[in-house]
Amino acid sequence: MMAPVAEFRSACSTEEAVTWLAELGADGCVLAGGTDVMMQYARHELGPAAFVHIEGIEELAGVGRDGVVRIGALVTHRRLAEDAALRTSNPALADAAATVGGWQTQSVGTLGGNLCNGSPAADSAPPLLVADATVELQSRAGIRRVPLEEFFLGRRRVDRRPEELLTAVEVEPLGSRQAEVYLKVGRRGAMVVAVVGLAARLSFDARGAIAAARVALCSAAPTPLRVRSVEQALVGLDAALPGWQDATSPSLRDGIDALMHAVSPIGDLRSSEAYRRAVLPGLLARAIEICRARAGVGVPEG
Ligand SMILES: Cc1cc2nc3c(=O)[nH]c(=O)nc-3n(C[C@H](O)[C@H](O)[C@H](O)COP(=O)(O)OP(=O)(O)OC[C@H]3O[C@@H](n4cnc5c(N)ncnc54)[C@H](O)[C@@H]3O)c2cc1C
Repeated sequence: MMAPVAEFRSACSTEEAVTWLAELGADGCVLAGGTDVMMQYARHELGPAAFVHIEGIEELAGVGRDGVVRIGALVTHRRLAEDAALRTSNPALADAAATVGGWQTQSVGTLGGNLCNGSPAADSAPPLLVADATVELQSRAGIRRVPLEEFFLGRRRVDRRPEELLTAVEVEPLGSRQAEVYLKVGRRGAMVVAVVGLAARLSFDARGAIAAARVALCSAAPTPLRVRSVEQALVGLDAALPGWQDATSPSLRDGIDALMHAVSPIGDLRSSEAYRRAVLPGLLARAIEICRARAGVGVPEG
């Protein structure tokens, strides 16, 4: 039997959207770019009484800077990939956005949609996690801020109530002597969901050793995750030492061991569990190398 056709409401402001979401409760469904929602609706995975279309709410589409970088929920992957200021302040997020689907998906898919969809493979999640992101959720009751690390509750489950709209994500920009990168392994170079993804934000000391590290993953557990045990193991690693990037070198070994303990990848259509585990050590070593190059450490001055 065909499901009843859902009502379609197009909101002009955040206030209008949250009023409708309060009225509809669990019968409402937020529709941003629709790249996930429309597929799920076509597959009968959801059947809301009404869609609340938010794509026209201009106040959710901006990027602001005031110590932290504030990115509106409706900022698209294309904008994240191309915005020159964002490429400087949060380059791993730009790296990740450039790998999402193809040009069409990037042009309409939004940051808020990527997070609220709750996929373990969300490409924007690892770079946001290493930037200590906080999500802002608005309802008629007010504003709630949730650290992104606590937002992901399980596969397709996030800490958002039906009456709440994700309005913005706040992230730390890169500091001095820091660099970051997002690396994605997929079955092809484009148009693919991540087999695994890894973001690293590293701080270097004056000699070029790692002074602090943040590392996060997607497609390696039921939710995107920050791997603090790996971060601790990497502190002090001096990537100027010959052979450091060999997976058996003592300097990298602790980080890889911690990584293997922290992940719980599954086997699915895109990859076996064993393959996901096998590519992670190389990804971590490459992320360190790229961060060193981007930070310009170890390069003689003058
Ligand atoms: C061909 C194709 C390729 C893809 N490739 C990738 C890929 O490589 N990597 C990747 O990570 N994703 C990929 N995706 C998934 C998708 O494009 C992204 O997750 C996208 O960012 C979703 O954004 P959207 O605006 O389209 O969200 P929608 O589809 O509009 O919404 C997604 C979910 O979030 C909710 N939602 C949306 N915005 C808000 C908000 N502001 N507040 C509260 N709830 C909200 C919706 O109710 C829904 O549950 C792909 C999709 C397609 C169709």
